[in-house]
Amino acid sequence: MEDEQRANLERVSREDHEAKSALWAAKADYYPEKLVELGLKSIDRFVQYHPNPSRLMKMGITFGHRDLESVADAMANNKPWAVVSGLNPSGPLHFGHKQVFDELLWLQQQGADVYIPITNDESYVVDKAKSLGESRKIAYEQVIPSIIAMGFSSEKTHIFVDSDYPDIYNLAMDVSKHLSLNRVFGVFGFGQDEEGENPGTVFYRGAVQIAQILLPQLEEFGGPKPTLIPVGVDQYPYILLARDIARKKGLIPPSAIFTKFTHGLDGQGKMSSSRPASTISLTDEPKSAQRRIRGAYTGGSVLASFQKEHGGVPGVCPIYTLRTYHFEEDNRVWDQCSNGEILCGQCKGAATEDVVKYLTDHQEKLVDARKRIDEFILKTPIKSILK
Ligand code: SF4
Repeated sequence: MEDEQRANLERVSREDHEAKSALWAAKADYYPEKLVELGLKSIDRFVQYHPNPSRLMKMGITFGHRDLESVADAMANNKPWAVVSGLNPSGPLHFGHKQVFDELLWLQQQGADVYIPITNDESYVVDKAKSLGESRKIAYEQVIPSIIAMGFSSEKTHIFVDSDYPDIYNLAMDVSKHLSLNRVFGVFGFGQDEEGENPGTVFYRGAVQIAQILLPQLEEFGGPKPTLIPVGVDQYPYILLARDIARKKGLIPPSAIFTKFTHGLDGQGKMSSSRPASTISLTDEPKSAQRRIRGAYTGGSVLASFQKEHGGVPGVCPIYTLRTYHFEEDNRVWDQCSNGEILCGQCKGAATEDVVKYLTDHQEKLVDARKRIDEFILKTPIKSILK
């Protein structure tokens, strides 16, 4: 390589490394600061005392909680408890969803009954689907089989597609009686859109989502019990609102655990179906996943010799999160990357190997999962609300 060309590459590598390091320096304290700002507790104590904490908890990816004590007590004493985590069926599950479902699976193995609302009504009202029918089709054809293929127990998993479980709207109506529009607008930040908010969105976010959280505590499902909701920190106000309503209805205020997001492969924020280049779906062809990983943004440098000497910046690297959030048992990728012991080509190769293995196995399991949907669907009518 010519001297001038090498000098240029060195300069570009240095500037890029400085920019990525500055970005990470600005982001590094985000989650610890959120714990303090919102008055949440770190997960560390739970990890210390639980005999077998989840991989995501041990790695600090599930990092904080609100009122996990009531759930821990139920867990330790074999009392009933539940977990609720829903999702929007706007496409197949991707690795961002997988992270949440990995945690749900661990919680189920600790004794939780897992409730999974598939919110095709929300997909429709917020324009993520052209029709309720389209979002319903995605739910049954793409979302539910993938959840089943992850290994959930049909006895302890209760999945419902909102539009096919209209009883949830009776509960939502009851919840809405305890809500004020001011409170809902305050929590969800409505009112910014010049054309005004779609009333379906307001009812959906304000009442239907809280109804989903409170559902396991109805008498049809065994009555009041600790209920855990895995969420991102941005959803904390909504947990507070749900706790308020629970108290008003004589139920146990739901607890929450807070998780970090799987980064999108494009380096533009969390993995999201709205940016296809950011995702790897669980139904992607392994070759397509391989191509996406190869083209992913990284925290590395253009010049290998520079990266060997100065290391990469794993904190901004989606390949780092893909590997550690989904496949690794410890944080050694961080050290290997920061010390310049591995380079991005090798690291992407390891990520590809793990992802391809996972996709191949998952897609084999999908064949059986598609035949078992009915075992997992919640059909219990909610009559207590009509008394
Ligand atoms: S070595 Fe791995 S973790 Fe580090 S920047 Fe490159 S791809 Fe990311």
